[in-house]
Amino acid sequence: MAATADETRVIDGVKTQLFIGGEWRDATGGATLDVEDPATGETIASVADATHEDADAALAAATEAFKTWRNVAPRDRADILRRAYDLIDARAEELALLMTLEMGKPVSESLGEITYANNFLRWYSEEAVRINGRFTVNETGKGRVLTLRQPIGPCLFITPWNFPLAMGTRKIGPALATGCTCVVKPAKQTPLSMLALAQIFEEAGLPGGVLNVITASSSGKIMQPLIEDPRVRKMSFTGSTPVGKELIKQSAEQVLKVSMELGGNAPFLVFGDADLDAAVEGALLAKMRNGGEACTSANRFHVHESVASEFADKLAAKIGGLKVGRGTEDGIQVGPLIDEAQRSKVAELVDDAVGKGARVLTGGSRVDGAGYFYEPTVLADVPQNADLLSEEIFGPVAPITTFSTDEEAIAAANDTEYGLVSYLFTQDLGRAFRVIEGLETGMIGLNQGMVSNAGAPFGGVKQSGFGREGGPEGLDEYLETKYVAMNVGTEPTALQ
Ligand code: NAP
Repeated sequence: MAATADETRVIDGVKTQLFIGGEWRDATGGATLDVEDPATGETIASVADATHEDADAALAAATEAFKTWRNVAPRDRADILRRAYDLIDARAEELALLMTLEMGKPVSESLGEITYANNFLRWYSEEAVRINGRFTVNETGKGRVLTLRQPIGPCLFITPWNFPLAMGTRKIGPALATGCTCVVKPAKQTPLSMLALAQIFEEAGLPGGVLNVITASSSGKIMQPLIEDPRVRKMSFTGSTPVGKELIKQSAEQVLKVSMELGGNAPFLVFGDADLDAAVEGALLAKMRNGGEACTSANRFHVHESVASEFADKLAAKIGGLKVGRGTEDGIQVGPLIDEAQRSKVAELVDDAVGKGARVLTGGSRVDGAGYFYEPTVLADVPQNADLLSEEIFGPVAPITTFSTDEEAIAAANDTEYGLVSYLFTQDLGRAFRVIEGLETGMIGLNQGMVSNAGAPFGGVKQSGFGREGGPEGLDEYLETKYVAMNVGTEPTALQ
């Protein structure tokens, strides 16, 4: 399929080398890695395939740059972040097209991600000048307590393919604001958005070495030596729980401070008193945003038995009416899955549920032809032993089960090793609070199907990880607290 002039222009505009120490360079040995359009299966670009030597050079650059970046005036750091924000804002449409070409989601959704991703740069540009310590008189009255908040040091960031830009800016924004430097390794399926971001930061005047981007086909091999390197002071990983567990083990080597944004299995609870139309709209957003390829994606719908069949029919009508196709085409609402492995996993989970008695209300099959498309699907009467209730689906499939009491709903919601986000729809405030307090997740959407917000702490509990991204909490991840015990030899004074 021939690329349009716009597609060629945005792809040609991306530098496909490694960005190390403020310079663009080929991988040592010159190897490259192909990037595919998941809507067609065609190769759209080749990027440098970093070796261990390249990764080491990137860390050396981040380590060197930290010596000066940490001392750059907060206002100057803020201004660079703000300039990057403005540049992204001005180029949002071309960045969205680029993202769709490598990741597949419809351009309208890519635009949504660009805005969301960019909000982290704006938010943290505003926070950079407000990183404060504390000063108090200690309880005996004789001493003083001073706390300093200092940048932790060079960071490693590893990001997934599902949100190619936002999963980077959630880390890069606060890191740069606090005075940290970083090496970023995006997913091999979607390196182009991160490379475009590096170009933007270069244009915004970010000094060389503060942000380094390495793209690679063998992540494990090139990242492990860095994770075990004492020059690194912080790692933030967004990706699957199995890989996260492996990286936690590796980080033990040098007791590295880590943040883990891992997988999810979000329950979506609809109570008998819910505004059903609002619940269906919320469900559509929670399930179908990013084609279901989101850690926050509603993975299981637990609906009160009194409204289950009406909710299922309404949701099936909406989901069954979504237009599936290449995300660059007008009116497309659901793009392809990222690759054949992901599509096969989704198909297996649906087949397993149907084999165990689930009813297909809409969808339920692969879409024939090029690309990795799967029909938006709603399943009713899903039995408890269906694998898709316990595994992360990561696809456009909504399984519905029922409950009869609030206690049953809470128990079902918590019956998973994950704990990222839950959604609940009810018009009873008392019930809402009882349920919220009983849910074991880091985030909750009350009568809304989306929680992501640059000003709020995003993150999970249980095997969904630890650490928070966004809001003031997001800064804490990049700051060390240093406390100075001061003997000033005097009683409390006006200093109090
Ligand atoms: P993944 O397979 O865990 O990969 C994530 C990143 O880790 C990629 O950059 C990958 O590189 C890299 N990686 C893989 N193995 C590695 C290793 N041994 N050492 C170092 N790096 C390694 O996850 P994914 O399939 O890309 O993303 C989907 C997962 O991310 C889902 O589970 C989803 O829930 C989770 N996620 C969580 C959040 C959150 O905030 N909690 C947000 C978005 C996504 P390669 O591309 O080279 O394999």
